[in-house]
Amino acid sequence: MDISIIKLGGSAITDKSEKFSLKEEILDQIATELASVKESFVLVHGGGSFGHPVAEEYDISSGYSEEDQLMGFSKTHQAMEELNSKIVEALIKAGKPAVPVQTSACILVEDDEIVSMEIQNIRKLLDLGVVPVLYGDCVLDSEKGMTILSGDQLTAFLARKLEASEVILGADVNGVYTENPKESEDAKLISEITPETWEGISLSVDFSSQTDVTGGMKNKIEVFLELAKEEGIESKIVNATKPGILKQAIGSDIEVDTKIMEG
Ligand code: ADP
Repeated sequence: MDISIIKLGGSAITDKSEKFSLKEEILDQIATELASVKESFVLVHGGGSFGHPVAEEYDISSGYSEEDQLMGFSKTHQAMEELNSKIVEALIKAGKPAVPVQTSACILVEDDEIVSMEIQNIRKLLDLGVVPVLYGDCVLDSEKGMTILSGDQLTAFLARKLEASEVILGADVNGVYTENPKESEDAKLISEITPETWEGISLSVDFSSQTDVTGGMKNKIEVFLELAKEEGIESKIVNATKPGILKQAIGSDIEVDTKIMEG
């Protein structure tokens, strides 16, 4: 069975400039597109304006150092549950059976790296034809006490474990550009990123933007380049906010704006 791992970026489904603000119309449009996808897929989403500001306020990604952070751990998770339930709700409304899988309950992390994850139930859900919906979350870390696991790290891990055929990254930009396309009209698209071309790209590209606790576009590329290099699994970045684009990219060879690949 070919499995796609689809990551919905927090920038695509929430407005990062305003705390706890969901882009409802875009979410409904994405849910409708996903409802008509025949291929098996796991959905992972980021934190956007839900998880990130809370995680930042309590400095969760630095690890546990003071008691105040316990409330932060709880509130960050709660914010992610709130966003997750809205996404699952949108999928159900669109006619796609989907269930939340609580990331922090089935994963163990050591120094920010996933060391194990219970994925049997995820496989079973896929076999049944139900979409598992996971998310970046605050998680227990055996070294640091607690940390933030990004939706991107989780996506790459699931792609490895489930031997996915592809990763689709739904963003609010068409792909990777020479500069942040939201800030510069001269930004030019980079259609392929490989381990060979990355060094040059990472030195010349301006990735500056309001990055959140999980590191922004540059960090994202590094996570998925590693996946391409180690497992040969390709990731495609698409603009999930534009009608039809996300659906078109799933399980197809259609050209997308940016591919992160083995080379
Ligand atoms: P998400 O939350 O969707 O997973 P991020 O917000 O971390 O993703 O990264 C996507 C954002 O990266 C885009 O909204 C874009 O404004 C910003 N960005 C910064 N530099 C670039 C670049 N060179 N090319 C494309 N996007 C960029």
